[in-house]
Amino acid sequence: MQSIVFDHVNKYFGDMRAVNDAHFTIEAGEFFTLLGPSGCGKTTLLRTIAGFYHQEEGDIWFGDQKINGVPTHKRNIGMVFQNYAIFPHMSVFDNVAYGLHARKVDKKEIEKRVMEALNMVELSHLRDRIPSDMSGGQQQRIALARAIVIRPQLLLMDEPLSNLDAKLRIKMRSDIRNLQKELGITTIYVTHDQEEALAVSDRIAVMSEGKVQQIDTPQNIYSFPQNQFVANFIGTSNFINAEVVSGQLDTGDTKLRIANIDFAIQLNRSYTGTAMLSLRPERIDLTTGNKPQNGLSAEIVEVTFLGEKVSYVVKLQDGNVLQIGQHAIEPSDVLKVKQQVYVNLNLEKAVIFDSEGQEVLY
Ligand code: ATP
Repeated sequence: MQSIVFDHVNKYFGDMRAVNDAHFTIEAGEFFTLLGPSGCGKTTLLRTIAGFYHQEEGDIWFGDQKINGVPTHKRNIGMVFQNYAIFPHMSVFDNVAYGLHARKVDKKEIEKRVMEALNMVELSHLRDRIPSDMSGGQQQRIALARAIVIRPQLLLMDEPLSNLDAKLRIKMRSDIRNLQKELGITTIYVTHDQEEALAVSDRIAVMSEGKVQQIDTPQNIYSFPQNQFVANFIGTSNFINAEVVSGQLDTGDTKLRIANIDFAIQLNRSYTGTAMLSLRPERIDLTTGNKPQNGLSAEIVEVTFLGEKVSYVVKLQDGNVLQIGQHAIEPSDVLKVKQQVYVNLNLEKAVIFDSEGQEVLY
């Protein structure tokens, strides 16, 4: 088990800074995910850890060893890629044994370790098969066995499930997670799929344009996004413009005006002017009966039945449009387009940003 430390790491391609001042620690044994949209620098950062790229500035440490300049084959890393990168005409056994032969491990030990790795990925019964005849899921298991058989100090995975169908992806991600816990191996996982990241990770680094925006547990990233980018990228968020009409912290009478209704609120610091409310669809209540206190009048403009939940789009009187999700309701409770409703914003479950979406005010 090994911790990884990035100390102000910058990686450039020409003038373009693909990794912008990465400065954080991945704890030993952690399942750590780099998550972000295409081109945000996830793969570049991963390749810098692997030693395929070398950073122009900053240091990378594996435990107490500074790894700058150490070649890839001396970093003791297991790697799994999106395209499997296995030898299609070599048997399953020989594919997994490859790295051990390269390390000159003796024959008896190779047999033992390969079968151990194949058992872990549930492929021992297929040891003599040829990968080109096997499914994508099975090929990815071979790649995984090949990565762990060398007993690496670090496991790097770059979009390993992207080529699999949706059902298999869900099964494989929980298998990978369980295997990682069993081995206790520090793992860095790259994906652009937020649901996958939330499902497997101990912690997630959300990246945008080369820069880490937030590092936290899946629950905290979802519930307490640090800026508008994270709130927007992870899950669905409603963004509502609000006016802070009295912003004195010490008097405790800060008022947030939304659609002509004043909500009392205690912000982190004194602030006046436009603010931005960010609220998850499942944290907004929808009612049809009497007007609740601070309820906002709205009309339903879209209803999508999704099985375990119903997703609504509603329009407030001031023109703001919100997405609202409701769980586990009877079919007869499903509301209809054009129905008049009240929306309760549940401010205590909201995050409020400054007008730029960069600072959390609440
Ligand atoms: P994706 O999910 O699409 O793989 P990513 O988040 O992994 O994206 P990177 O592949 O790390 O992003 O790319 C980060 C930026 O660096 C992009 O703008 C990309 O075009 C650029 N880039 C990546 N590799 C190179 C390279 N070898 N030479 C020049 N520019 C590169």
